[in-house]
Amino acid sequence: MNRARRARIVATLGPASRAPSTVKALAQAGVDVFRLNFSHGSHEDHAAALKAVRGAEMALQRPLGVLADLQGPKLRLGRFKDVEISVKPGHTMRFDLDPTPGDASRVQMPHPEIFKALRKGMLLLLDDGRVRLRVGDRTDDWADVTVESGSKLSDRKGVAVPEAVIPVSALTSKDREDLAFALRMGVDWVALSFVQKPEDMAELKRIVNGQAACLAKIEKPAALADLEAILDYCDGVMVARGDLGVEMDPEEVPVAQKEIVRAARNRGVPVIVATQMLESMTSAPAPTRAEATDVANAVYEGADALMLSAETASGDYPLESVGIMSRIIERVERDPMWPSLMGAEHAGMDEHDVDALVGAAAMAANAPSTGCLVVFTTLGGTARRMARERPLKPILVLTPNPNTARRLALVWGLEPRLGDQPDSLEAVTDDAVESAVKYGLAQPGQRILILAGTPFGAPGAANLLRLAHAPAATTKGRKKRRD
Ligand code: PEP
Repeated sequence: MNRARRARIVATLGPASRAPSTVKALAQAGVDVFRLNFSHGSHEDHAAALKAVRGAEMALQRPLGVLADLQGPKLRLGRFKDVEISVKPGHTMRFDLDPTPGDASRVQMPHPEIFKALRKGMLLLLDDGRVRLRVGDRTDDWADVTVESGSKLSDRKGVAVPEAVIPVSALTSKDREDLAFALRMGVDWVALSFVQKPEDMAELKRIVNGQAACLAKIEKPAALADLEAILDYCDGVMVARGDLGVEMDPEEVPVAQKEIVRAARNRGVPVIVATQMLESMTSAPAPTRAEATDVANAVYEGADALMLSAETASGDYPLESVGIMSRIIERVERDPMWPSLMGAEHAGMDEHDVDALVGAAAMAANAPSTGCLVVFTTLGGTARRMARERPLKPILVLTPNPNTARRLALVWGLEPRLGDQPDSLEAVTDDAVESAVKYGLAQPGQRILILAGTPFGAPGAANLLRLAHAPAATTKGRKKRRD
């Protein structure tokens, strides 16, 4: 099953979507990577969701990625007896360390570091800034707060303290447990929330130790300020606009998005644009036109993937959300202006040897007589460099490594498939041509551009670009390849 589009879709699984039949339907509707959000749900929930994704993958014969999104040092409220309370400006309550479910007079804030950092008069932003609170009296164990604006508070809502630096480690003890669990389950990607500095990602990479690809969620102004150094440790990056938008003014968020997408594309690091893309579809069967335009703009920017959060995790229309996102992407990619608009953000060829090869392949790929590119890869590096060029023809990626195939499901334009590692030029060419035809990516007589590395079968950058042709259609017998 090929996608009729290059930009990829990430969908968050949750109560509305983690049943195996829904996961399969979501993959059929267009999801390439499923996100398990460790801020919500139990380990059992996530294990069941991962099993459902692997089942859908088998059924659809298409690699699907699984991204474990660690909560990170996100500061969150505890729980309420009745899940939610109503508040209004002037309402005063206490935040404390007592885990007993809260009410309108008090609730737990399970972070001693916050109480130590708070000062009278400081601003607290809850629930992505929907509720603004001002700190009154405080000790190291509690703080009295007064509502300035907002109407309700509910279980586990996020807390931001824009006027203080909270000295928290990049990975909480919960994150470490979740990470060990996610790696044991065999997830393909791990995302770290609230990255503030390169060392945060370096620590994640050290613990993950190659068992999954590592992605930084950029949602703090401090991370944006140190973006290039953070990208040194990233296999992927996410524009996490929800939390980014809490700590930055709204007019800064689109500029930050462009900066992150541009920096990631420049390095060939896959980038996800996330949050509120089709937010109104949590409760409506169609998006607002502004949301459709937001999705379209991320595609014109050349983002690798676009993400759905509550729309698929807990919304009323998860399948419809994926369906319309897919349609918007496909529509943009049919716009004759799309290649040049996306190309305007392309940084040009890099100094890597492989870029000379992929640059030439991308140019040749854009000729009408080319059907597709075929990349042989073991770890995925050549495929990512090829995607960085944003060629206008499908990129079939053949790898013997299922982990590589699943990781690459996040990357713009790649169609990863499992295949044996050929051991001669003849076998490479035969495999590429047969696979391109089998997967419907090259029509009879079309040119096929093959990228591979010698010695064959050994990991390393591609050093070979070969032209072949899909066999001309014949009515009987095996068709002969034309080199
Ligand atoms: C975000 O803040 O945009 C985000 C993706 O993170 P989360 O959904 O974990 O809040």
